[in-house]
Amino acid sequence: MMTVTAKVDRWNPNPDVIAEAAEIIKAGGLVAFPTETVYGLGADALNTQAVSSIFTAKGRPQDNPLIVHVYSLEQAESAVHMNDSAYRLARTFWPGPLTLVLPSRDIIPAATRAGLSTAAVRMPDNPTARALIFASGTMIAAPSANTSGRPSPTDAETVLHDMAGKIDMILDGGSVKLGIESTVIDLTDAARPLMLRPGGMPREVIEAELGRALEVYDTGSMKRSPGTRYRHYAPDIPVVIWRKGEKLTGDYAYMGMNIPDGVNMDRAVIFSSAENFAHGLFAGLRRLEREDVSYIAVEWPEEESGLAEGLRDRISRSAGHI
Ligand code: AMP
Ligand code: MG
Repeated sequence: MMTVTAKVDRWNPNPDVIAEAAEIIKAGGLVAFPTETVYGLGADALNTQAVSSIFTAKGRPQDNPLIVHVYSLEQAESAVHMNDSAYRLARTFWPGPLTLVLPSRDIIPAATRAGLSTAAVRMPDNPTARALIFASGTMIAAPSANTSGRPSPTDAETVLHDMAGKIDMILDGGSVKLGIESTVIDLTDAARPLMLRPGGMPREVIEAELGRALEVYDTGSMKRSPGTRYRHYAPDIPVVIWRKGEKLTGDYAYMGMNIPDGVNMDRAVIFSSAENFAHGLFAGLRRLEREDVSYIAVEWPEEESGLAEGLRDRISRSAGHI
């Protein structure tokens, strides 16, 4: 298969390019596209055949369900049974990096939700993504557009690196805004909102809107969110977690906000904030794995709020702590 890359202006995507991409989705093909979190690998969420080709292209385990991307609240209502908490969060935070897990309607094929009775829905905050969903006239199932287990792509070049020859088209909308995936909240039991995966929407803003604490994701939630069981975001060389003040030995590359003593700055990626760190984490892992070193030391961000919780989740998984 030939993979075509088409540049789009993220804020004002060319309608001809969007129409071409939408035809591919309608025909059951695969299109990678930018969202505000990371690049997604999209297919018609209602087409079992198309959805199974996402799993093949990524090498993704069949029991890891996909997020269904929608362009309107009405479309979300047609996919899942919304409840009051879901309406509240959707009205406040959509479009945005927040995914809601709710009881699925029959329209969503079992392949999309990996056989679960629930489905995950989200409205992305990116004009190209929304134009594509609208033009395709369906909902788009999309995991991150990387080979399963590798760091997620935050630009089109990285998508091409992993997916060349495996997908039909890549919409190149430049570098993404956030750099880490959405926060996933399970609202199946409206009385017990559960954080399945921390991410681009900070916990504290969701809790403030709901007026209650989100339960901590734990081994119980791994059963609920199968994707969280697998090793993820891993570069080709080991990741070692570094805390400020600790001594690093041997040949290593480094990524973080503080600068360890004796670090080789040619092999270091330094960030000025947790938000910048989240934005550059995946690209940084892919850059530093190419250095001739035996490991990548990654700082453990200690911040309580903002993107730090999502960042800690991605860092610990890239280090192999599942
Ligand atoms: P990814 O597509 O790799 O960003 O992963 C999507 C995340 O959402 C994974 O952790 C999935 O397990 C989770 N997810 C998707 N659908 C569901 C669902 N129906 N129930 C629970 N978790 C889900
Ligand atoms: Mg992923």
